[in-house]
Amino acid sequence: MPRITDVRTTIWEWIGPVAPMPPHFCTTAGDIVSDVTGSIEGFRFLGWLVVEIECDDGTVGIGNAALAPHATKAAIDTYLKPLLIGTDPMDSEYLWQSMYRRTLPFGRKGIGMTAISAVDLAIWDAKGKILNQPVFKLLGGRTKSKIPVYASRLYSQPLDTLYNEARAYADQGFSAVKLRFGWGPKDGLAGINKNLDLVKTAREAVGPDVDLMADCYMGWNVEYAKRMLRLLEPHNLRWVEEPVIADDLAGYAELKAMNLVGISGGEHEYTLYGFRQAMDLRAFDIAQFDVNRVGGITAAKKIADLCEAYDVAVIPHAGQMHNYHVSMSSYGAPISEYFPKVPVEVGNELFWYIFDGEPVAENGFINLADDKPGFGLTLKTPDPAEFKLTR
Ligand SMILES: [Mg+2]
Repeated sequence: MPRITDVRTTIWEWIGPVAPMPPHFCTTAGDIVSDVTGSIEGFRFLGWLVVEIECDDGTVGIGNAALAPHATKAAIDTYLKPLLIGTDPMDSEYLWQSMYRRTLPFGRKGIGMTAISAVDLAIWDAKGKILNQPVFKLLGGRTKSKIPVYASRLYSQPLDTLYNEARAYADQGFSAVKLRFGWGPKDGLAGINKNLDLVKTAREAVGPDVDLMADCYMGWNVEYAKRMLRLLEPHNLRWVEEPVIADDLAGYAELKAMNLVGISGGEHEYTLYGFRQAMDLRAFDIAQFDVNRVGGITAAKKIADLCEAYDVAVIPHAGQMHNYHVSMSSYGAPISEYFPKVPVEVGNELFWYIFDGEPVAENGFINLADDKPGFGLTLKTPDPAEFKLTR
């Protein structure tokens, strides 16, 4: 019976070149309180946390967190590591409940649950390695021969480059692409028209037979979203994502009840309890938890099952292996997000620079290997000119 002997946390902070970004290339929840240049700072993720759980049989499980890595590292080192040393990683349900209930007064959501998520991923990776099985095989196995993925980039950029980039994704075989809106309530009718121009341009580029989605990243409010949803209806979007802040589940429900376009959300929602509330309110047509925030594989599996009972599609945030393994093993997960590998820019793409083994899309699909244990990822050797490591 393996025992956990060490829990190591390392921040991988990108210090290499960063691609220039326009001052405001998508809406964020900060738009309403700051000028647009300031609000975008909260959107960058240039440091990631890697968690390694070592067992006495030599197994090392790897997990990660992309949000607030310094605070998440402190939460793991201070509160979670002492609960894990000497335990059996195969007891993942007990370990999750132990971490959750013993940090509940200050944990629950945000950094507390991000920390638990990163540890839980490392535990499941270790379980897979101990049993010599990929994680998806431990969750129910293969529900599809390969996973359709949608190309997720397209920011608020000049319309000619938007057109060309959207067209290129369609030409590469993606059956769906997603863009980000650039303007919100502070930008008035002129901003509304610019948002509509983004959608019109992308629709023209991909044609009528490729699905198109658009993300607000919590940058709107309910009144503005109602106005936008009516105007967007002719463009046949598959969904509008995170139209309002994550805490306003009633706002999501109100927008969904308009029945003009699918409403997606949940990439900033946490735990089975958060999703129970969302399902009870009929807040989402599509649930987009990220496994490295929502409570790890342990929570994500339960939430995927809950969503199945409500006939709500599960399309996790961000792609990446920890989400793909849930998509592969979940009957109600029709497609997954895919961040193309690009020069470092926002930080969304950093996993390409930290891990080896992430699947590359081919003709709009990714696949998982049946013979790679755990999540099938290994850590790259960091180049000191690109990454500053904090242990
Ligand atoms: Mg999103």
